[in-house]
Amino acid sequence: MQRVLPCGESVPALGQGTWNMGDDPRLRGQELAALRRGIELGLTLVDTAEMYGDGRSELLVGEAIAGLRDQVFLVSKVYPHNASRRAMPQSCDASLKRLGVDVIDLYLLHWPGSVPLAETVEAFEALRRAGKIRHWGVSNFDARAMHKLWKTAGGAAAQANQVLYNLGERGIEWDLLPAQRERGVPVMAYSPFDQGRLLASRPLKTFAGNHGMTPGQAATAWLLAQDSVIAIPKAGSPQRVEENAAARARPLTQPELEELDRLFAPPSGASPLAML
Ligand code: NAP
Repeated sequence: MQRVLPCGESVPALGQGTWNMGDDPRLRGQELAALRRGIELGLTLVDTAEMYGDGRSELLVGEAIAGLRDQVFLVSKVYPHNASRRAMPQSCDASLKRLGVDVIDLYLLHWPGSVPLAETVEAFEALRRAGKIRHWGVSNFDARAMHKLWKTAGGAAAQANQVLYNLGERGIEWDLLPAQRERGVPVMAYSPFDQGRLLASRPLKTFAGNHGMTPGQAATAWLLAQDSVIAIPKAGSPQRVEENAAARARPLTQPELEELDRLFAPPSGASPLAML
């Protein structure tokens, strides 16, 4: 199952998140095994950020993808305060070094900050010309911020916007998701399990049990049923990666999607973009 970026390149609809990975040395072996199992299963879009564990997540990802670079679509993020003409090249070089790669496939502005957007776009484009990133995009941009970006010179080159989106947080369906669909810019859904909390919710557990799947599979399958959405769950063990990946083989039916709409209502009006 693939999603097409505005540049025409295809990426997997189900990838892997890595926030909080690499922080605990006791979990390192299991986390490396989880990421490698995910890649084996086709979850080859791997999401990290310079922020995560002050670079420890990027270091772990670098180790996990060593020897597998060609199979992976690597996403990392720059802090807003580093998203300037001056600071971004240094941030990017530091990320490349930690990741042990020559190029990042998709480099995102982690959230809107005080550096003017036009300058950030210029800095991204300079990195692209230098061959250090292949594409760039944004994260935590609401509909208004996306429209502003699209009006900025060069802003139409953004390949994705990564935002909080899961069954319990459906606000973007009101305005942001339709606007991005119209432009062909995928939403990358972060915290698809609401950091695990969603999987403990009674309605989801009951739904999953009644339909012969796990809560993780139900939450994943629901996101995979949404056009133009890429999901990046984080799972810390190969077993959990396998469990979540199996959702691809169990698409939700129309009646199941309608049942989930009754349990987790879609938005009935505009709301501020939810963020973690
Ligand atoms: P998440 O993916 O919603 O949830 C991760 C939690 O779910 C972990 O505690 C994990 O436990 C648990 N889990 C995973 N699979 C499970 C399963 N099958 N059964 C039970 N529990 C399961 O949370 P997230 O890490 O916040 O979001 C995913 C990724 O999105 C991040 O890792 C990061 O890459 C990205 N992100 C981006 C932003 C942004 O601002 N752009 C913000 C937040 C997140 P174990 O780890 O113990 O397996």
